[in-house]
Amino acid sequence: MAHKRSNSSDAVAASLAGGKFPIPDPAEPPRTLKGLGVSPGIVIGRAIVLDSGLGKVHRRSITPDHVKAELLKFDQALKASIEELAEFRKQAAKEMGEETAEIFAVHQGLLKDKSVTGPIRRMIENDLVTAEYAVYQTMSDLAARFRSMSNSAFTTKVNDIDDLSIRLLRQLIGDTGQRVKLAGENTVIVARDLTPSQAAGFDRKKIKAFATDLGGRTGHTAIVARALGIPAVVGCQQATAACVDGSVVILDGERGVVIVNPDSEQLEQYRGYTEQARVYKLSLSELAGQPSVTLDGAKIEILGNIEFPDEVAKVKEMGGDGIGLYRTEFLYLTSDHEPTEREQFQAYRRCVELLDGMPLTIRTLDLGADKYTQAREEIPERNPFLGLRSIRYCLRRQPMFKTQLRAILRASALGPVKLMFPLVTSTAEFRQAKYLVNDVMEDLEEEAIPFDREIKVGMMVEVPSAALMADAFAQEVDFFSIGTNDLVQYTLAVDRTNERVASYYNPAHPAVIRLIRDTVRAARRRNIPVSCCGESASDLEYALLLIGLGLRTLSMTSSAIPHLKRMIRSVSVSQCERIARKVISLDSDVQVSSYLRDCARKIVPEAFDDRAGE
Ligand code: PEP
Ligand code: MG
Repeated sequence: MAHKRSNSSDAVAASLAGGKFPIPDPAEPPRTLKGLGVSPGIVIGRAIVLDSGLGKVHRRSITPDHVKAELLKFDQALKASIEELAEFRKQAAKEMGEETAEIFAVHQGLLKDKSVTGPIRRMIENDLVTAEYAVYQTMSDLAARFRSMSNSAFTTKVNDIDDLSIRLLRQLIGDTGQRVKLAGENTVIVARDLTPSQAAGFDRKKIKAFATDLGGRTGHTAIVARALGIPAVVGCQQATAACVDGSVVILDGERGVVIVNPDSEQLEQYRGYTEQARVYKLSLSELAGQPSVTLDGAKIEILGNIEFPDEVAKVKEMGGDGIGLYRTEFLYLTSDHEPTEREQFQAYRRCVELLDGMPLTIRTLDLGADKYTQAREEIPERNPFLGLRSIRYCLRRQPMFKTQLRAILRASALGPVKLMFPLVTSTAEFRQAKYLVNDVMEDLEEEAIPFDREIKVGMMVEVPSAALMADAFAQEVDFFSIGTNDLVQYTLAVDRTNERVASYYNPAHPAVIRLIRDTVRAARRRNIPVSCCGESASDLEYALLLIGLGLRTLSMTSSAIPHLKRMIRSVSVSQCERIARKVISLDSDVQVSSYLRDCARKIVPEAFDDRAGE
């Protein structure tokens, strides 16, 4: 599918301004990693590397001139740990007696023992690895040796070793949240994985980009990055292994490239890309105010997808006609408590006010799968994407669900609000959810609290069962919104967050296209509105197909809106219908992808021309 041009040249402009960008380290060879570019923009900054907790530390190499600094880091961690233990020892003696306190003395002794610390120091010096890796590996080896001994006096030592390892690592690595807070300006977070709430919590003044080893294009961490305009590359596999704290990194969120320790030639090349991006951005910004109408006069409504109320302004600025998807779960994900009715109402009201008469579709909580709050993490499910997520979760937690419904209904009194349920798989589920809406309406009426009695209640079509039953659903719901992100993963059996199967994740698969076609037909037959709010709606090539299949409303992340407008203004509906007819006759995703690409290249060559030769 077409790459969209960068819309965030600001980050790199800031990086490059006044020669402020990091100077390459000639001692370190450059290393280029390929991943999935999930949020456009170029950033040149310094890495902070986050391992996943203290469970496993990845091997990271250093150059000989960094050995001294790593040894010093280790000595400081050792000293701080010994002091910490001395403090615990004093306290324990006071509260629990000398005998109990003795364990801390033993730990202190171990940390002063050269047979423990010596191998760590030697590993840093000889194997040229970071202090944290040397600690992790040496202590793990030591624990394994004790574990394999038959004498129980030794096996009990394993816990002591693990405890010391964690203590030292905590000193070396620090608490993840704390380290991110202490990040300098122009930081690129390099992590094994990030949760959507971690990404949402980044201080955007400092954290300019992120790269992860794991992750897929339509995972919610990627979606958050796009929403916040943070350039990101996921699924790099080796990013945490290739970087150490402070490594100079070029992150290109458009091309899906992370260059660690770039040389001056690469930095120069990226200056060129940045300039191209700046010029392109200017040309796009002119489109924001233009109507979204095809060459043959059909209006295509372009709406925005948001996760936070403040994004409404960006959607309007980019020329969106309203909000087609408000992912309200982010209110939960970014809060340390379950948001109250008042807090939710305030957020929804803010959206309505900012929209000033434009439509707002509020989707009820879509928690679960890759969207759990950190503080209230559920007991892990074996298959979270097939587990207790979305509407299923809400129907099991009715008080929580009803609180949200109350807040949404109250907001409906203030402007054009629609209500939408995610991941509906059966008519019974929809009816149950609708029943609760009616219940809440009755309560509000009794309390004389205003709301819109005629509020439209719709559903996402994002599982094959819903698409296959679209005809039945269309008799009960007020509207459909097709969620291709999930529809693709559930139709093709591909986890949307798993970089290992990213190549199987293809919305151009004929099976997905047939489900979309049938859903649109069912909606048209029953005369109910249908839109698409998955990431595919913002893909230039795919949008041609969607329009050809009959969709007239597309909802997407704000930065994609001008790109889409340009395409819409360059094509006619009859052209799109011809494209759709041809696509329907093809039986392989490869054929569909390449055909759509050819069509899009002819219709909007400028979206492709400036990438020639890359
Ligand atoms: C979708 O599945 O396409 C969708 C828009 O919902 P989400 O990405 O939040 O799962
Ligand atoms: Mg979904």
